[in-house]
Amino acid sequence: MKVNHDVHLHNYLSSCCSDYQATAFSMIEQAEKTGLKLIGFSNHTWDESVPLPASSSFYKRQSIAYESQIKDELAEYTGSLKALYGAETEYCGMYDVLGMGKEAALQYDYLLIPHSHVHMRNFVMPATEDVTRARAVLAERLSAIEGITEERALALAQKLPEAELEPFMGEKTVDYVKYVSDFMVESFRGLMNNEVLKSYSDLVPISVAHPFQPVGSAPLGPAMLELISDNTFGELFEMAAKRGIGLELNNRAALPHILRMTGIAKECGCKFTFGSDGHGKAEMGVLFAIEDCFEPLGLTEYDLMDFVRV
Ligand SMILES: [Zn+2]
Ligand SMILES: [Zn+2]
Repeated sequence: MKVNHDVHLHNYLSSCCSDYQATAFSMIEQAEKTGLKLIGFSNHTWDESVPLPASSSFYKRQSIAYESQIKDELAEYTGSLKALYGAETEYCGMYDVLGMGKEAALQYDYLLIPHSHVHMRNFVMPATEDVTRARAVLAERLSAIEGITEERALALAQKLPEAELEPFMGEKTVDYVKYVSDFMVESFRGLMNNEVLKSYSDLVPISVAHPFQPVGSAPLGPAMLELISDNTFGELFEMAAKRGIGLELNNRAALPHILRMTGIAKECGCKFTFGSDGHGKAEMGVLFAIEDCFEPLGLTEYDLMDFVRV
């Protein structure tokens, strides 16, 4: 088997894409050059008919009305490569809110749903107690300065990146690796049990984007996964397999901690999709590193979800 599809692509309509030349057309051209047969665009999308569970300037912009502009570009393409219209929506584990309702979901060829955008603090994953306490301490100190109102102090304290909060934290009470690891287990389970997803997972192909890969904390990924037992993975992946919900493989697929996880998923009967998460054509090449996991896992095209088999 060769990697011949990439269904995790963002063009310039995703606001985290800094490549303004990243048109759908330029990425389709790149895909043709590298021999792909099928690609899918999955810009970040929040269905505007679903109320945001907390404020998010990011998702306010990523509405369906906005990102569906890509359809015009896709309609102009007449080549032989199959180009799908998908979306990477959001699952806010801490609120059990899915960013795509049924009516909207049915407009897409497929959906990617992440459960591990843990960098979206207090939207996807709650900030740790240590961080919350440090922000409160900082706000108090700022409001003691003449000319800074309490409201302004709170706003400033919210803005400071977590990495710079250390001096205000005092003694830490939270083991961050365990915290995120536990969160990812619960958010995966929550996603599988989410009622809205249940209403359409039989009708639209769904793949979990970068499963158990903590966005923003990638270097800690191996330590976080080590805390998750084979049994727990087995229990979670059986839920996905039973529902026909797939898992995404990316350029980390051959790393030992990901291999262990994927091996269990395969045994449970899960199907897979490939995705580079490329935001522009320069990032699309990383996709082929996935091939390094085929042999150790014994992965064949029968392990792929139906909609990506060409
Ligand atoms: Zn993502
Ligand atoms: Zn993405």
